[in-house]
Amino acid sequence: MLAIPYINMQGVVAIRYRCLAGHDCKELGHGKYTREPGDEAKIYNIKTLTLNVRRIAVCEGEIDTMTAWQCGIPTIGVSGAQNWKPLFHRHIRGYEEVVNLADGDDAGLKLADTIMGKNEHASLAQMPQGSDVNKYYIDHGAEALKTKARF
Ligand SMILES: [Zn+2]
Repeated sequence: MLAIPYINMQGVVAIRYRCLAGHDCKELGHGKYTREPGDEAKIYNIKTLTLNVRRIAVCEGEIDTMTAWQCGIPTIGVSGAQNWKPLFHRHIRGYEEVVNLADGDDAGLKLADTIMGKNEHASLAQMPQGSDVNKYYIDHGAEALKTKARF
């Protein structure tokens, strides 16, 4: 398993795990991603919210969040559209703009729709059909991703 730490100013507050085996996880009775028992969904890369920036991005999934962050985009993430909690809206208020870096499919719009439905300052930068932030970066590079994300 790839261990993905959730780190805030106090340190590691949660770890999610991604199965790296080449099998069908569902066939073996586990999800591709798992979290510690009792752990609730949190904002990933929450340190972004301590930065003095006017605009931030939101990604679905830790890997896309890591990629956008490494490209220089101040980015938070959640581990799935269903894991965006009503409380999280408060965390993104006060920014000039919150850009949703959505996957290039209908499912990719679910999180963006949730966020844009409650935040007039939220916008959408959707990746091309069949792509996501990580694939877009691999295919086109960091500068192209920043341009696509409008950062
Ligand atoms: Zn597995």
